[in-house]
Amino acid sequence: MAGTIGIDALADWLVRFRDAVTAKRDWLTELDSAIGDADHGANMTRGMEAVVAKLDPAPATVDELLKTAGMTLVGSVGGASGPLYGTFFLRMGMTAGAVTELDAPGLAAALRAGLEGIVARGKAEAGDKTLFDAMAPAVDALDARIGEGADLADAARAAAEAAAEGRDATLPLVARKGRASYLGERSAGHLDPGAASTVLLFETLADAVAGRTR
Ligand code: ADP
Ligand code: MG
Repeated sequence: MAGTIGIDALADWLVRFRDAVTAKRDWLTELDSAIGDADHGANMTRGMEAVVAKLDPAPATVDELLKTAGMTLVGSVGGASGPLYGTFFLRMGMTAGAVTELDAPGLAAALRAGLEGIVARGKAEAGDKTLFDAMAPAVDALDARIGEGADLADAARAAAEAAAEGRDATLPLVARKGRASYLGERSAGHLDPGAASTVLLFETLADAVAGRTR
């Protein structure tokens, strides 16, 4: 059987993501200082800190949990990443519904809806050098592995690996969306900061699914 992820593990994902962006804050800031305005580490840390503060008392259903996360990010982060990650979690929640766990296809559908929300909001396409370039391959890999009958833990790990490959592939790209696009050709030769934080999103999801110790 492909496995499930319960509401406690999903809440644990948000805590792990907060911890990961906090641990990598300086790196995210450094990436954003090369092709943006040096606030991506601060934006993600502030946003996820606000999200984790909303988890006590813990929301009772998956939609409530993820919608709370999304609204909190939209409300607490001024940069592009706040509305984008906020929309991702909001759409995930709307798709998940008032349940207390998601099976593998349910998680895949929620992540796909989150990705589509980001596209609806930011209009990014493949190769624009945005977080889409890490997230789309991650969601595709998760879908593919689940379609092959893989365990959810294996599928989530494959998604994290695909995200990392997508992040690394942003290095030579010229940015066509967001602040980095103002630099034109000079944006080439740097990793996209949002793609870097998206890898952390999928690595921590894989860890939360596997129930690893933090
Ligand atoms: P800001 O650009 O407002 O300073 P952040 O620095 O927090 O916000 O986030 C920048 C990241 O947001 C970029 O590295 C990119 O991945 C992502 N991003 C910006 N615009 C878009 C967009 N239109 N669609 C998808 N992602 C985008
Ligand atoms: Mg920035």
